[in-house]
Amino acid sequence: MSEPRYAMVIDTRTCVGCSACVIGCKTENDTPDGYTRDWIVTETRGTFPDLSMTITSQRCNHCEDAPCVRACPTGASHYAEGGQVKVSRNKCTGCKACISACPYGARYLHPETRTVDKCTFCYHRIAAGMTTTSCQEICPTTSIVFGDLNDSDSEVVDLLARRKYFTLRPDAGTEPQVYYLI
Ligand code: SF4
Ligand code: SF4
Repeated sequence: MSEPRYAMVIDTRTCVGCSACVIGCKTENDTPDGYTRDWIVTETRGTFPDLSMTITSQRCNHCEDAPCVRACPTGASHYAEGGQVKVSRNKCTGCKACISACPYGARYLHPETRTVDKCTFCYHRIAAGMTTTSCQEICPTTSIVFGDLNDSDSEVVDLLARRKYFTLRPDAGTEPQVYYLI
C-alpha cells in the first residue's frame, strides 16, 4: 500500500460558522488564551444583487509546496510521513521566519514555549490510530472530513471526485491540502 497523503475536505454548503471546530481544537490542543490553530472566515462574494456568503473554517493547509518549510533555517518545520507539515519543538528557535513565509497566517509563536505552533491535522490522534481530527469530531453539521487522498476508498477521494471545490490563495502556489466544497 502507498504512503498516505492526508487532506481535509470542508463543505461550505453545510458549515454554519458556529465555531465548534475552533473550540474543539482549543480544548484538544490546549492552545493558549488569545491564540488559535483554526478560525472562521465569513466572506461576501459576487456583486449586488447576486451576492452570496461563504463561511470557511480555516487552519494550516498542510501545503504540498510549503513556503514555511523552505523558510525554516533549522529544519524544525518539516513534512511528516503523511504529508502533514509539522514543527519539531526541540529544533525551533522561535525566529518567526516561517510565520512571515506562510501566506495564510496559520502560525503563531507560543507565548510560553517560545516555539511556533499551528494545526497538525491532529497528528497525535492519527498516530494513535484514530481516524478523525478533533474539529471533525465536534462539527455538528459533519462539514469536516479528514482522510487519505491515496486511499481510493476514502471519503475525501469520493467527495473531491463528486463535488466542485476550491482551495485558499491558489495564487500563492503552495498546493494547499485543505479543500472547500461548493
Ligand atoms: Fe462550520 Fe462545523 Fe466549524 Fe461549525 S464546527 S464552524 S459548522 S466547520
Ligand atoms: Fe506552512 Fe502556512 Fe502552508 Fe501551513 S498553510 S503548510 S503553515 S505555508
